[in-house]
Amino acid sequence: MHEFAVARALVDAAIDIARESHIHRITRLRCRIGDMRQVDRWLLDEAYALAREGTPCEKAELCVERTHMQLECKACGRLFSVIDWDWRCPDCGRSGSNARGGDELELTGIDGEPTDED
Ligand SMILES: [Zn+2]
Repeated sequence: MHEFAVARALVDAAIDIARESHIHRITRLRCRIGDMRQVDRWLLDEAYALAREGTPCEKAELCVERTHMQLECKACGRLFSVIDWDWRCPDCGRSGSNARGGDELELTGIDGEPTDED
């Protein structure tokens, strides 16, 4: 299950950051996931609920920023985001090219509370 691997990787990355930053309890995971990764948000939430069990992420909220692939219109030069797999320019209807972005899959940060025993 693709989403489970993603959730597991996010939890592992968050635990690493928490250890380095002396965060005892993680309250929020912030990540960025591009449309091209085809990660289903509902499945990801389900997978995350399992992946975080027994970890410092157990009470942490998962905040996902979705990113879209950008295309450039061959006809009018407009840059636009691909939403719902629509590759046509919103201005002139031609199909775009020079795809970039939309393949992000990264933990951008965590929030948490510092260790008590310092
Ligand atoms: Zn155009």
